[in-house]
Amino acid sequence: MPVLSEVIAALDALWPPERAESWDAVGTVCGDPDAEVRRVLFAVDPVQEIADEAVRIGADLLVTHHPLYLRGTTTVAAGTFKGRVVHTLIKNDIALHVAHTNADTADPGVSDALAGALDLRVLRPLVPDATDAHGRRGLGRICELPHPMTLAEFGPYAAARLPATAQGVRIAGDPDRTIRTVAVSGGSGDSLFDDVRAAGVDAFLTADLRHHPASEATQKSPLALLDAAHWATEWPWCEQAAAQLDEISDRHGWNLRTHVSRTVTDPWTAHAASDARTTPTNTSGAPR
Ligand SMILES: [Zn+2]
Repeated sequence: MPVLSEVIAALDALWPPERAESWDAVGTVCGDPDAEVRRVLFAVDPVQEIADEAVRIGADLLVTHHPLYLRGTTTVAAGTFKGRVVHTLIKNDIALHVAHTNADTADPGVSDALAGALDLRVLRPLVPDATDAHGRRGLGRICELPHPMTLAEFGPYAAARLPATAQGVRIAGDPDRTIRTVAVSGGSGDSLFDDVRAAGVDAFLTADLRHHPASEATQKSPLALLDAAHWATEWPWCEQAAAQLDEISDRHGWNLRTHVSRTVTDPWTAHAASDARTTPTNTSGAPR
């Protein structure tokens, strides 16, 4: 049975912490390096319901994509919601380890898992890591659809393959546009529009697209946009990561039990469709 430091070393080999962005906070948040690890839970968000789930299944290690603390803190008091997570984990001998932007750009990384969930063929990274001689690491992925589809078909296709959320998938663009190639990026992707345009793809699937970047992108070119829930675009990585650790565990004879949380931790919990009767009508010039 491995100890935490051995499991963390294996995870650091998959997602080297030095490849994380300088603003990021990756690595081990809490945990005893000498504690034995039998059960590992993978999840996107280190929120209380995930900490509680880790306790419930008897996990010794929780691996999340998002950091618990991105900036410094002066308290882990249980009266704060993050401190409550820390207390829950430490009281139950559960370590927390974070792989964030170092997992985004890895080979395979978060966007490979997203492409896999969508049955897309990965061609290359959207923003290649210049230090990777093989040209496989980097941010986002440029992919080919299994067969060309209209945007009207590709939207429901993506929504049906991503884990279900209240948001679903928002779509921008000409519904009749044929989509052959798509750039995908797990998480917030609206800083990548220049790279997406330079790649010359038919569509961009990501999360958290804001009004102005999306509006400008669709005005500049016929690029189609698909905006999924942030959690949904990154959750496939949890399954990929668990499979990677399973493979390592088999190789070392560790006999680890890995679990992937099915708890939806996207913060948006409901969606109310607009009522067509509230569509503004153009009454300019009409007599009042
Ligand atoms: Zn994210």
